[in-house]
Amino acid sequence: MLGHLRRDGCEIVADAAQADVILVNTCAFIEQAKRESVETILEMAQHKRQGRAQRLVVTGCMVQRYGEDLRREIPEIDALAGPDQVPQIVGTVRGTRAPQHPAHVPVWIYDHSSPRLLATPPYMAYAKIAEGCDYACSFCAIPSLRGSYRSRTIDDVVSEARQLADRGVKELILVAQDTSRYGRDRGLEDGLARLLRKLGRVDGLHWIRVMYGHPTTLSDAVIDAIAEEPKVVKYIDVPLQHASAAVLRRMRRPSAHRHVGGLVERLRRRIPGVALRTTLIVGFPGETAAEFDELLAFVREGRFERLGAFAYSREEGTAAFELRGQVPARVAQARLRRVMELQRRVSLRHNQVRVGERLEVLIEAAVGDGNVVLRGRSAAQAPEIDGSMLITEGEARPGDFVMCEVTGALDYDLVARIV
Ligand code: SF4
Repeated sequence: MLGHLRRDGCEIVADAAQADVILVNTCAFIEQAKRESVETILEMAQHKRQGRAQRLVVTGCMVQRYGEDLRREIPEIDALAGPDQVPQIVGTVRGTRAPQHPAHVPVWIYDHSSPRLLATPPYMAYAKIAEGCDYACSFCAIPSLRGSYRSRTIDDVVSEARQLADRGVKELILVAQDTSRYGRDRGLEDGLARLLRKLGRVDGLHWIRVMYGHPTTLSDAVIDAIAEEPKVVKYIDVPLQHASAAVLRRMRRPSAHRHVGGLVERLRRRIPGVALRTTLIVGFPGETAAEFDELLAFVREGRFERLGAFAYSREEGTAAFELRGQVPARVAQARLRRVMELQRRVSLRHNQVRVGERLEVLIEAAVGDGNVVLRGRSAAQAPEIDGSMLITEGEARPGDFVMCEVTGALDYDLVARIV
């Protein structure tokens, strides 16, 4: 959207008080995201009433899911645009395009010719390689918001990667609702593996990271490509959601036995030194104390260097909404705290093993905080969600890659010096 607007001559400002038009891009997949979205829209409506802004435009999945409600409840909103209406955003923002209802199910996805303005630091960028999802996990509203799975072509993603590398991007992060399914809708076998092999030859890129794999589609070909391609970081993110077979069945997720157990061992064996990340849901309807204990045991085994957890969010229109045995919010929150406390110790243990190692680090920022002079990330740390490298000695600039020696371990961060 920003790319289209800038190409049309709009000046983009980050401060709402300076804007003539305020655009709020929303998320709607769980309760917390919806609340943040609505709070932001209300805050921006205040700007429109009292400040310089003349138009308030709301975009994204809240529009897809609750467009009519938003229009009715928040009269300050001038225009709405769902996920399918990105290419028409200029008309929506300028008010030259008649208001449209969001498409019933979105089908649009951008390509390398779409104008793009990076909102990330100049050395990194996300690339969405596919959109939508063909699974039907019983807790998840995403398929209804984003439509069925559709991949971009390999050539298209590679063209975009080249353009980004020419602009100075060194770390490319591939995302989709399910990255490891990439290409199947186009009849491509092992599409992600082929894509990674091609991206590995793009000059200028230094790290290629894949987020959001799915346990059923992480094939041996993908694992081998991650293991063998030097630019692809040895980091795998595969949200598993739970460890109990009974809960996974109710979630309509792949069985723990068939996919989860063997997968971790397979990844560790085939990719020496790999860092694994997963995401879990606690408090899913009917989750018994025993099932939760199974989950705790799974976390305690410590097989994941990185792990995030969410309390189940009951979403209208999903199969799990009707399930009996909804877990009270305070029980879910208590379980969430227990999982994260356990993972804190697991993470510390993994970090302590790293002390004395030498790791390549991407510098992200200068810091003036006690002993720490710089902050960066190793290949095993994804931006925003994982810990950082806190560097106490040495000089470098954001975007530089430097070798560091790990000198200390914290719960989630590592302490290091440049060597
Ligand atoms: S695979 Fe992911 S996006 Fe698709 S339905 Fe399941 S949780 Fe939702």
